[in-house]
Amino acid sequence: MTVFSSPHFAGHEQVSFFHDADTGLKAIIAVHSTALGPAAGGCRMWTYVDDQAALDDVLRLSRGMSYKNAMADLALGGGKAVIIGDSRRDKTPALMTAFGRAVDSLGGHYVTAEDVGITVADMATAAKETRYISGLAKSGQAAGGDPSPKTARGVFTGIRAAVQAKLGSADLKGVRVAVQGLGGVGYNLCRNLFEAGARLVVADIHDDRTALAADEFGAEVVNVDEILFADVDVVAPCALGAVLNAHTIPRLKAGIVAGGANNQLATDSDGMRLRDRGILFAPDYVINAGGIINVAAEYLGNRSEAEVDRDIERIGDRLHEIFALAEREGRPTNEVADAMAEDKIRKAARSQGQKAA
Ligand code: NAD
Repeated sequence: MTVFSSPHFAGHEQVSFFHDADTGLKAIIAVHSTALGPAAGGCRMWTYVDDQAALDDVLRLSRGMSYKNAMADLALGGGKAVIIGDSRRDKTPALMTAFGRAVDSLGGHYVTAEDVGITVADMATAAKETRYISGLAKSGQAAGGDPSPKTARGVFTGIRAAVQAKLGSADLKGVRVAVQGLGGVGYNLCRNLFEAGARLVVADIHDDRTALAADEFGAEVVNVDEILFADVDVVAPCALGAVLNAHTIPRLKAGIVAGGANNQLATDSDGMRLRDRGILFAPDYVINAGGIINVAAEYLGNRSEAEVDRDIERIGDRLHEIFALAEREGRPTNEVADAMAEDKIRKAARSQGQKAA
C-alpha cells in the first residue's frame, strides 16, 4: 500500500490505522492540517474494494476538509475518518465504541462527526469513549444534531447562487434539478428545492428512498446510471465522490453542477473539463460547508443555531465571489477556490510558526 508517495498524500500531518479484533473495527484517521485548529471532519463507513481505496478516500476527504474549514472561516483544521465495512450489515454499538476509543487516542488532534453511513445515534455511542466528537443530539437553542439538514440548506443556497450566476435569476420556480443520492443531504435538499418550486429528477441505489421522494415531492425517478445525464438545468451530486470525470463530463446536459457530495471531481483537471464545456461548477467543499459550520458551532460552543443559519446563508456570497473571480481570470472555479483556501491555511501556519518561535 502506498502512503507517503500516494498522489493524495498532499502533506498530511498524520495518518493513523486502527484495528480492534473483538469488534472487527478497521479504521483510518487522517489529519491533513491543524494550522487553523483541531482537524475536524466526519467519519464515513463504506465497503471499499481494498485498503488502498480506503486510504485514498480518507486522504482526499481529509485535505478537502482543510480547504472546506478554511473557506468557511472556521477555527478548525482538516481531517477525516473512514471505517471499512457495510454500515447496514457490519455496524454495531461495540464497533462504534471502539471507534470512539480510536478518536480519543489522538488526544484532540482530530474531531469526528457523521458522514456517509454514520448516524447521530452512532456518534452518541462513540461519545461514551471520547469528548472529541460533534454532531450529537441538540438541546435548546444551541447548535448541534445531525449536520445533514444544514449541509442541505447550504447546498440549496449555493444552487440559488449558481442559478443566479448562470441563468440570471435566483428564483428556482420551474428550474429542473437532478439529485443523485437521497440520503441525509440529498433528501433534505429535495425538500428545500421542492418548497422553492423546483422540478426534481432523482436516483438512489435504494428504491425505498426514491419511492419516498416521488411520493413526497412528485420527483421523477430515473436509473442510477442516467441521473448525471438527465436533461435538467442543475445536477446535484449528493452520493459519493469522483462522479465528474473524463467519461461523464462530455455527457452532461446540465449547465450547472452544484451538489453536496465531497470530492466530486475525479481529478483537479476535471474542473477545466467542465469549464471548457461551459458548465458552471460550484466547488464542493464551499457549497457543502453547512454541516461543518453547524458542527463547529456545537464543538466550539461559540454560535447559536440562529447565527449558524446566518453563516450558512453566506455560502451563496462566497460562491458569487469565486464565480466572479473565475470568470475574470478565465480559470476553473475549483482552481480559484483551492488557491483561496491554500492562502488562508498558509497564512495560519505562518502565524502559528511565529507564535511557536
Ligand atoms: P448518506 O449515507 O445519508 O446518503 C448517501 C445516499 O447516496 C444513500 O441514500 C445511498 O443509497 C445513495 N447512493 C450511494 N451510491 C449511489 C449511487 N451510485 N447513485 C445514487 N445514489 C447512491 O450520506 P449523506 O450524509 O447524505 O452524504 C452524501 C454526500 O454528501 C457524501 O459525499 C458526503 O461526504 C457529503 N457530505 C455530507 C455532509 C453531511 O452533513 N452529512 C456534509 C458535507 C458533505
